[in-house]
Amino acid sequence: MREPILLTPGPLTTSLTTKTAMLSDWGSWDASFNTLTAGVCADLIAIAHAADTHVCVPLQGSGTFAVEAAIGNLVPRDGKLLVLVNGAYGKRMARAAEVIGRQIAIYETADDTPPNPAELAARLAADPAISHVGLIHCETSTGILNPLAEIAEVVCRAGRRLIVDAMSSFGALPIDAREIAFDALIASSNKCLEGVPGMGFVIARKTALLDCTGNSHSLAMDLHDQYQYMQKTGQWRFTPPTHVVAALRAALDQYLAEGGQPARLARYTANYRALVDGMQKLGLTLFLRPELQAPIIVTFHAPNHPDYDFKRFYEAVRARGFVLYPGKLTEVETFRVGCIGAIDGAEVGQAVAAVGDVLAELGWV
Ligand SMILES: *Cc1c(COP(=O)(O)O)cnc(C)c1O
Repeated sequence: MREPILLTPGPLTTSLTTKTAMLSDWGSWDASFNTLTAGVCADLIAIAHAADTHVCVPLQGSGTFAVEAAIGNLVPRDGKLLVLVNGAYGKRMARAAEVIGRQIAIYETADDTPPNPAELAARLAADPAISHVGLIHCETSTGILNPLAEIAEVVCRAGRRLIVDAMSSFGALPIDAREIAFDALIASSNKCLEGVPGMGFVIARKTALLDCTGNSHSLAMDLHDQYQYMQKTGQWRFTPPTHVVAALRAALDQYLAEGGQPARLARYTANYRALVDGMQKLGLTLFLRPELQAPIIVTFHAPNHPDYDFKRFYEAVRARGFVLYPGKLTEVETFRVGCIGAIDGAEVGQAVAAVGDVLAELGWV
C-alpha cells in the first residue's frame, strides 16, 4: 500500500526527492550547512522579489512561531497592531500580539467576507495609535483570498506598516515586494514550498528589522538577534532544524525546476479545478463564492444528510488512501480539501472518486 495522500494545508504530501534529502546528518557549525542556509534564504527572498529591500530571517518551529516573532520584533513595545480578522488565523495573530503585551485592535468581517479597504482607511484615520496592520493573505480556515495589494496600498498611504501572514500562499500566489509595501511577510517550509515542517521564516524590510533592537519579548524568538548572528557567523543562534533545511533545499530545487511561482500556481489551479468540478458532480457545494476562493484549500458544505458525521467520512476516505481536513467554522458544517502538495490532477481525481464511493456506500447522496 502506498502512503496516504494528504489533502491538507500542511504538513502535506512531499516528493520522494524531498524526503530522501533528509537521509544525511549535518553539523550546525559546518561550512556546508551554512552554505545551505544562505542559499535557502536567498531563494526565499527572490520568490518575493525582495532582494533589494528585505532580508530573510529563518526561525526554528512551526509557522506560528515565526508570526509571533515577527510581531514581537517589528511592532515596538508601545506600538499597536490592527488585525484584519476573517478566520482562525487572524484571531491567532491578534491573540499572539495580545499574549506578548502589544496593544491590539481588531477589524473583523464574516468568514466569507474580505476586509473592505475603505473601511480600513477610515479605521486608521480614526486611531492614530495604530502603528501596524496585520493581514492573513490566504485565510486557511476557509481558503478565502484577502485583497493584499489593496490593503497594502491603504496601509502605506496612511503611513503605517504592514505585517502579512502569507503562510498558505507564499510560493504559489504572486507577491512582489517591488509593488506591495510590507515590513514583514511570514511563511513556513511545509506549505506551498512543499518542504517538511519545522522552519518558519520572516521576509523583513531591512531598515525596519535593523530598528528592532530591544523590541523582542523573547530570547528564542528574537529575529533581530538571529539575523545579526547569522550575518556574523553564517550560523543559526541555536540548534538549527538541519534535516528540515536540507529538505527545503531539495524542495526549492524542484520548485525552481518546475518553473517557480507561475508553474506552482498553474499546478495548484489545475488541482483546484479537478477538485471542484468533481465534487460538484457529486452534489457537494462550495462554502465561498468562487471569486473569493484561493486555489490552496477549499471549504465544502458537508453532505446534506441527517447521518453525516465528519469522523466516519474521514475514516472511510482515509481507508481509500486520502486524508481530508475538518472544517473550522462554527456556524455551518463544512470540511476542507487541500489542493497543495506534491500531487497533481490525476491524484485529485482519484480522491474525488474515493469521496464518491464513500458517499454512495454510506448512503449520504
Ligand atoms: C499554517 C498556517 C499558519 C501556521 O500554523 P502552524 O500550525 O504554526 O504551522 C499560520 N497562518 C496561516 C494562514 C496558516 O495557514
